[in-house]
Amino acid sequence: MQQTIDQRLKIYSRVETSLNQMFKELSFCKDKCMPQERSFMGNSHKNGPIGCCHDNYYHLNIPSYKKINQETQDDIRARFRELQEENLITKLMKPNSSVKDYLRYSYSSSTKCSCHSSEGCMIEKFKSPTCVSYTCVPLERELEQYNINYDQLIFLDFIGDIFAGEVRSKQAQNLIQRINQATQRIKDSKTNPNQEIQEQIVIDN
Ligand code: SF4
Ligand code: SF4
Repeated sequence: MQQTIDQRLKIYSRVETSLNQMFKELSFCKDKCMPQERSFMGNSHKNGPIGCCHDNYYHLNIPSYKKINQETQDDIRARFRELQEENLITKLMKPNSSVKDYLRYSYSSSTKCSCHSSEGCMIEKFKSPTCVSYTCVPLERELEQYNINYDQLIFLDFIGDIFAGEVRSKQAQNLIQRINQATQRIKDSKTNPNQEIQEQIVIDN
């Protein structure tokens, strides 16, 4: 039976959550890149701590679009936007949220994503695949330190398959398990830096 759009987006959200946790545990972007005037991405902006969030990448650019007809793409985009806005609003409603920052960036900048604030990204859930999956070379190298191989392009294809309704919950679970395993490895290595290098974890699909 064909998956509904909400079922596909639920799978996307589960994969996104586990990948976010891995990057959060790694804390590379936040500690090593965001505080710098120039990001590791190598772009020429000098607008302060924005990492690679220098354009409105929150727009949903559906990967593997050829597998999805235009009508379904439009439906996915509309639903995705709704869910994204719901989560953005939830974050803005939190007591310590820097609403002012969000508004300032929204209206005054042409070189930052309008969802970027001094707290980082204002979208907690349903970031676009571009935002969820992007890794610059230094970030990939950092993952390699933990013997984690992350292939962004294959991963994006997999997300395309999710949007196309071709990924079953069990298959997604398999990927999530590997991502969670990688998160745990990073955590363990931080508490015990001398532990032996373990077998490679491959995160792609
Ligand atoms: S992905 Fe790379 S360029 Fe982007 S914030 Fe992280 S370290 Fe910086
Ligand atoms: S949506 Fe968030 S992660 Fe994506 S570019 Fe904007 S601020 Fe960065």
